[in-house]
Amino acid sequence: MLSLDEAIKITMSGVAPLGCEQISVEAALHRVLASNITAERDQPPWDNAQMDGYAVLSGDIKTASPNAPVGLRVVGRVMAGDAATVPITTRQAVRIMTGAPIPLGADSVVKVEDTDGGDDIVQIRRASPPGAYVRQRGEDVQSGSVVLHSGEHLTPARIGMLAATGHASVSVYRRPRVAILATGNELVEPGLPIGNHQIRNSNSYTLAAQVCECGGVPVRLGIAVDTHQDLREKIARGLSSDMLLIAGGVSAGEADLVLTVWKELGVELKFWKVAMRPGHPLAFGTFNGRPLFGLPGNPVSSMVTFEQVVRPLLFALSGFTGRSRPLVEAIVSAPIYKPRGFCHFVRAAVSFVNGAYHATVTGNQGSGILSSMVLANGLIVLPEACEHVNAGDRVQVQLLTTLP
Ligand code: AMP
Ligand code: MG
Repeated sequence: MLSLDEAIKITMSGVAPLGCEQISVEAALHRVLASNITAERDQPPWDNAQMDGYAVLSGDIKTASPNAPVGLRVVGRVMAGDAATVPITTRQAVRIMTGAPIPLGADSVVKVEDTDGGDDIVQIRRASPPGAYVRQRGEDVQSGSVVLHSGEHLTPARIGMLAATGHASVSVYRRPRVAILATGNELVEPGLPIGNHQIRNSNSYTLAAQVCECGGVPVRLGIAVDTHQDLREKIARGLSSDMLLIAGGVSAGEADLVLTVWKELGVELKFWKVAMRPGHPLAFGTFNGRPLFGLPGNPVSSMVTFEQVVRPLLFALSGFTGRSRPLVEAIVSAPIYKPRGFCHFVRAAVSFVNGAYHATVTGNQGSGILSSMVLANGLIVLPEACEHVNAGDRVQVQLLTTLP
């Protein structure tokens, strides 16, 4: 049977980002940069004051102390935004505000709190070495240097860097449009009346949320009943999207018609069934080079296969270079048994206590048990060859959220 690694290799082969668009910096949060960003000039552009106080020559005030202050003549005043300032020579000072350019000749700033605040003559009560409270030109960013890289995700700090380096708009990768189709006669959308024999469609909503988390644009196509006609119609509608996710109908039951319909529509099936649990019946195909997934219908299987296989592909289509969830080593609190031959993903609550990660299984691991997924902030990864782990063993855990 196909291993998970092989399956991922197949889905990722030859994949390139979809394309770029130019957008305003205000709209760029969480988008992915499509080009390197270069600084237009040094930041700060000139030496400037880090504190409100007086710009001085450090050599003049070497002996200054509260008991023996040194008097300097105040020859000017400079605010942030002032273009020019008076140069100073020995035994002179300039009153200076935070962010204002350091006057020519000065090499140090004395905080106003270490002076008497004088207007014509200022008494300096503390020595100040060369460079004190002076922010050097270019200490943050040097002109012409690359400050952000293509493929990086635009966090608030990176948005700030775009603005600081003079960019009002930015080239980002296009967000993949991901069509999502639920399948099953038993499904009813939340909010609609429901019969005793029916269940809610949750997968469409989970998957849409997962797509959003990865920076994609979900397009819900609703529910197809388990007939050739309805499936064909609704799957065909999703084929023009950048990616199509179909949940359910890919196992071996009589109502599992998705792969038959793929064949009828000319979808090229690349694989069906992967050695993983939950998620074994996962199917993958392409249509005109666009990827389609047949995700297992069980709510946890659908989520976990998305995490392991769909997510990396979605990131590759988005141009995002940071792909995987953080993987940490954690100590398990109780034994776990599993058969050989499948890679298992075990829902776990992970905490960091006394310098180590600890993982506790969140309960029933049935692939339909969404409540144990709700409680999980991590997935313990047990490789194919592993048969069991003992309490106290160290295991690899994918962190799904940042820890509380
Ligand atoms: P299937 O893969 O279609 O055989 O579905 C497997 C299990 O998942 C069945 O118990 C389905 O009722 C359930 N299921 C399938 N699709 C959904 C969905 N969209 N939301 C919630 N449960 C689903
Ligand atoms: Mg079904």
